[in-house]
Amino acid sequence: MFLLKSIPKVDKFIAKKEFKTLGSALVMSLTKELLSELRENILNGRVTTFSEDELVKELLQRYTELTKPSLQTLINATGIIVHTNLGRSLIDADAFDRVKELMTNYNNLEFNLESGKRGERYSLISKSVCSLLGCEDVLIVNNNASAVFLILNTFARKKEVVVSRGELVEIGGSFRVPDVMKQSGAKLVEVGTTNKTHLYDYEDAIGKKTSMLMKVHKSNYSIEGFSSDVEFGEIVKLACEKGLIDYYDMGSGHLFDLPYGLDEPSVLDFMKLNPSLLSFSGDKLLGSVQAGIIVGKKKYIDMLKKNQLLRMLRVDKLTLALLEESFKAILLGNKEQIPTARMLFRSTDELREDAMQVQQKLKKNIKTNIVDTKTLIGGGTTPNKTIPSVALVIESKNIKVKKLQKLFRQKSIIGRIEDDEFLLDFRTIQKTQLQQVVDAIDEITDV
Ligand SMILES: *Cc1c(COP(=O)(O)O)cnc(C)c1O
Repeated sequence: MFLLKSIPKVDKFIAKKEFKTLGSALVMSLTKELLSELRENILNGRVTTFSEDELVKELLQRYTELTKPSLQTLINATGIIVHTNLGRSLIDADAFDRVKELMTNYNNLEFNLESGKRGERYSLISKSVCSLLGCEDVLIVNNNASAVFLILNTFARKKEVVVSRGELVEIGGSFRVPDVMKQSGAKLVEVGTTNKTHLYDYEDAIGKKTSMLMKVHKSNYSIEGFSSDVEFGEIVKLACEKGLIDYYDMGSGHLFDLPYGLDEPSVLDFMKLNPSLLSFSGDKLLGSVQAGIIVGKKKYIDMLKKNQLLRMLRVDKLTLALLEESFKAILLGNKEQIPTARMLFRSTDELREDAMQVQQKLKKNIKTNIVDTKTLIGGGTTPNKTIPSVALVIESKNIKVKKLQKLFRQKSIIGRIEDDEFLLDFRTIQKTQLQQVVDAIDEITDV
């Protein structure tokens, strides 16, 4: 067994100069793995010859594969602004820089500087949120799903929650409202029919065990035609009359009026109704970090704070600091400091300029077309409603659209296919990424 004998010794192999600058523990474990595979393959006859150079190369490849970051930067050319699969919302670079200082030093996260005693984590952000929204108090948890769970668990465990059948939705990633309600210990009382629910349906369902009237944003679907549901304002009124809690799971929550005639009400609109509780995501149209934001009456928020579950849903200082940046930007009227808002409010003329800039920089022989198109905001924010956008169609005679999409993906650009054409939508391509888009088109269509 000459081949077996020529397998290098581990000690000798890991001492090679090619591995000098690498992490020695990882080189060691990869070497052991590689050499034992080699031994096995020699014994079963799959390997009949090898060289040490090949082994070194293989090890270096495995090392690189294992150590490269698994999250990588992408260019979102789908046009969908709140794209959960691509990280949902972007954080403003300047805001992130300001927060860096806080994260790399100790801070007053739970420390009252005046009294020198323990402070409250959530009070830090409450001032800016409450002055912005005119609410009594606020609580931040991990995401809106946790907000729903915490609220139901606190107020409706072993009690009944009345909710419209038309709002028992499933949201992406198999978050099903009825299942979450069950998990929380709340008993769901469904009222109305799929397409119609009236106020009297809620009223008729109220009984001794009822604790809450809940409304859920439909998020990713809408019912057209013969349909109606009850406005949250009416639910708030009814709950108040009956001494119950009203709660609206808004899904996405935004703090400014939307452009392009989108008539989705903002958090501020709902706050005017003086609700018991509202909750919404930090990283949908709010355009901040992943979080669940609960606002409403202080007596209810106080009860939420006493639930032991909160400890498990507690957010880190990074979340609070980034959220505060976003709320302050809105409070100071600087919504252009929020990337989501920036992208949403860009005019099609601006988008066309970017598209033309890319087109002009391309090599002459590449055929592209600038087209008017429509895109979704995404994230269940404005179901079935589109906003105008501008895209570049890449026309290639010899590459099929599916292949084209894959080639762009390999260059970290995620585009979309529409009517058998591959397009790059400029609604979500950042200005700093234009040159990278030019280079990718040149390289891909060159072959
Ligand atoms: C998106 C959404 C949720 C979940 O929010 P996350 O922040 O993703 O946890 C809950 N309810 C509704 C209605 C939603 O649209």
